[in-house]
Amino acid sequence: MIFPHYLLPETKLLLVYIAKAKYNIQENISWCKNGDYAGATIHENKTFFICTNTILKGYNANSYLNETVNHEAVHAIHGCIGLRPLGIPLAMMPLPPRKMADINRSIALTKHEWMRRQEHEAFWLEDKPKLILKYMKHFCF
Ligand SMILES: [Zn+2]
Repeated sequence: MIFPHYLLPETKLLLVYIAKAKYNIQENISWCKNGDYAGATIHENKTFFICTNTILKGYNANSYLNETVNHEAVHAIHGCIGLRPLGIPLAMMPLPPRKMADINRSIALTKHEWMRRQEHEAFWLEDKPKLILKYMKHFCF
């Protein structure tokens, strides 16, 4: 796996906890082939994967890679609590239009309308690894 080399220390630490929570961490799996995914958490088999090759082809690859790991870490926490939202009030999670569009893109890709609130949490938290770690320790251990 090459993606851990790109991660900032806090995000790298998140990866340690994702493994401790018994997720199988993978890279560039078959889901990555058509370029739709930057990464995802498959809850059915507890697979956490990052499409490093896809991310490295795009702009701002380094920060996008960190954000993707942070984002999927939030979904891993959702997995620890039966896929429910963490429960952060919407009013506390303002997002710019660009990220609101990202939520719609995610929902269109997965067809999981019931994940809209969880996506909102993941997009809001994806630049806040320290806070994600706090939630992970609270909900997964
Ligand atoms: Zn997501």
